[in-house]
Amino acid sequence: MRISIKIKFSIFLAVLLILVVIILSLLVLEGIKKDQRVQYEQYLAQQAQIANLYFIQTILSESNKEPQDFLTSKGIEFSEQLELISGQLVVLYDRNGEIVSEKIPDSKSNDLKKVLEFALNGKTAYQVEKDSLYYLAPLRVGRDQVGVVQFYYSLSKNLEFYNYMKLLFIYIGAGVFFLSFILAYFYFNSFANAIIRLEQIVDRIRKGDYEAKIFTRKDEIGKLSEGIHEMSHQIRKTIQDMEEEQRKLTLAVNKLSELEKQQKQFIGNVTHEFKTPLTSIKAYIDLLEMYPDDQNLLETAKVNMKNETQRLYEMVDKVLQLSVLEKYDFEFHREKVDIQQEILLVLNSLKGKIDKFGIKIETDLTEAYVEADKDSMAIVLVNIMDNAIKYNRTKGNIFVKNYLKDNQVVIEISDTGIGIPEEVVEKIFEPFYTVDKNRSRQSGGAGLGLAIVKKHVETQGGSLSLVKTSLEGSLFRISFPAYRS
Ligand code: ADP
Repeated sequence: MRISIKIKFSIFLAVLLILVVIILSLLVLEGIKKDQRVQYEQYLAQQAQIANLYFIQTILSESNKEPQDFLTSKGIEFSEQLELISGQLVVLYDRNGEIVSEKIPDSKSNDLKKVLEFALNGKTAYQVEKDSLYYLAPLRVGRDQVGVVQFYYSLSKNLEFYNYMKLLFIYIGAGVFFLSFILAYFYFNSFANAIIRLEQIVDRIRKGDYEAKIFTRKDEIGKLSEGIHEMSHQIRKTIQDMEEEQRKLTLAVNKLSELEKQQKQFIGNVTHEFKTPLTSIKAYIDLLEMYPDDQNLLETAKVNMKNETQRLYEMVDKVLQLSVLEKYDFEFHREKVDIQQEILLVLNSLKGKIDKFGIKIETDLTEAYVEADKDSMAIVLVNIMDNAIKYNRTKGNIFVKNYLKDNQVVIEISDTGIGIPEEVVEKIFEPFYTVDKNRSRQSGGAGLGLAIVKKHVETQGGSLSLVKTSLEGSLFRISFPAYRS
């Protein structure tokens, strides 16, 4: 069973206070008793001395009498005179312990006889019975003991005073106990409350609530509370860091498995795309082996095998480009590139193809510069423009323009081609993705161009997007940060 700190404090306080009050009362009461004893012992010793002096004086006045005889014959009168002088009841004994006065002792106790024997041997002694004190002292003349004088002393006043003091102590003690208990209870209660609040805060932290409010106190408990607050912040930070790490790890793992998937798909696609031209070449070789003298077959085989080999060569080149861009941090040679001039150069290099399909080129070019790798820029522009030619209609149009916006050099290439279905717009940038396999094959494409373009654009700090596409054509937008001198 758990006992609350408040109850423990209260019990401890109560026991402590009771102990203090009892010990103090006992000490004082004992002191009073001792003082009373000293006082009446002194007083009675004085009375015994007076009795002795008076006895000697009386004997001297009765010159013819022996002290012993005087005591036997005049004991009654002498004791009465002593009573008058001392104000106490007096009993006189002779040397043999026989009473020679009129009064007999009240006490019937045997102890008094022992005390008497003691006194007969020349010693002073007394006996206390309830509130009565019997004081016995030797009666001497010179060195000789004549008898014993006994005083009766009432202790009732002493006892009354002692009992009164005892009662006073009980009342005052109880009062002091309650008052100090209440004061101390409230004082310690503030500590107990602070400790209980700390316990509640720790409990909340244990349950994961790290925002628990602390309290301020200018003592060690206040410092402890601040310490707990700091600790809880530290724990929260550590947990947040750990969660962040875990999130990053999960992301990395997901990315890794995604990459692995992409890589497998990439290899599958490469194998598949390479197989097609190779199968075609192998088929022609088989046919030529079967019909070595067929001139027509030889001619067709030559043309087709040349085309397929060229296609294979281009594909290998593009696959290599892509894997190099994927895997390595390419060393680009950055320089100031005149975009207007670059566009014109590319258009010029594609002039043969443009004329072949009867395509009309329109431009709206302005002077603009970017800081980029010239070869990368050429690859980007060639591929996008090549697509605009490849997927255009016969005698279609291509419109190329560039402009500056928000420190970006923007190049827009729009065509009047077949467009791209809305649902695959996102996929055209993936390697080996083609909307129409046959059309791509006819034009020598294998779905690698846009993937390569996107990589080049991104490594140059630019962006590439398909702005719009429909059955009337497509618009691609490329932008790069403008050159700053
Ligand atoms: P490819 O080498 O086959 O041209 P790309 O990666 O360059 O491959 O393009 C991916 C696919 O996107 C193409 O197969 C084609 O279907 C489509 N595409 C690209 N550009 C255009 C365009 N200007 N108009 C219509 N379709 C396009």
